Amino acid sequence: MRQKIIAGNWKMYKTNSEAARLVRQMANRLEKNPAKKCKVIVCPPFTALSTVNEVLKNSKIEFGAQNLYGEVEGAYTGEISAKMIKSTGAKWVIIGHSERRRYFKEDENTINRKIQVALENKLKVIFCVGETLEERNQNLTKDIVLNQVEWGLKGFSEKELKNIVIAYEPVWAIGTGKTASPKQAQDVHAFLREMLDALFESNISQKMPILYGGSVKPENAKGLFEQPDIDGALVGGACLKADSFHKIIKSGEKVF
Ligand code: PEP
Repeated sequence: MRQKIIAGNWKMYKTNSEAARLVRQMANRLEKNPAKKCKVIVCPPFTALSTVNEVLKNSKIEFGAQNLYGEVEGAYTGEISAKMIKSTGAKWVIIGHSERRRYFKEDENTINRKIQVALENKLKVIFCVGETLEERNQNLTKDIVLNQVEWGLKGFSEKELKNIVIAYEPVWAIGTGKTASPKQAQDVHAFLREMLDALFESNISQKMPILYGGSVKPENAKGLFEQPDIDGALVGGACLKADSFHKIIKSGEKVF
């Protein structure tokens, strides 16, 4: 059985007080209606990590950052290291999100290095991959995700790989309201699983969760979670309201 995960990427939303309120609402809902099958993770902005840690002290919700800098420490004005993130109590970090690839020109080497420093600092990684619409229309989806996974996961030991979760996020479905159909998503997830089988020992490849991300909402979560190779979701917009995020978690609890 693979770990099932529902994670929320808050992106550049929520001040400290807003973050505290949102995560308190989420924790209250989960206290009344606990998630027994899914691990729940929230990824607020850096500035809210310590606040979220305080609020979540007695909760099972885990939290993480959305990025880090790929060096241990140094004269890198404005950057945030893995060790700093770890010191807030965070357990997770998202790496390779398509918005970072697109707006901040992160390439496969940068992403591989970021994963390395995360793992060295005992942060677990949600590693995002996915194709653009143009690439999908050219039938390049599989080549793109193959390349991203091969480079991103290069050089890690079996022990390290156990701390990585993949999120397949077709770029054309992120923040656009367009979701991959359950079949479209399942096809890529099944391909990713085959790829992991070819690259790693089966005790790694069969256990690595693969989440789907791209306009997941309460209305479409169930159909996605019913697919055999979808182990949960990385949610953007719909995780900014406690109610919709909780409904997605409840769909996971029903299906998994
Ligand atoms: C994301 O940014 O990871 C994401 C999936 O966003 P949305 O759910 O808003 O498409």
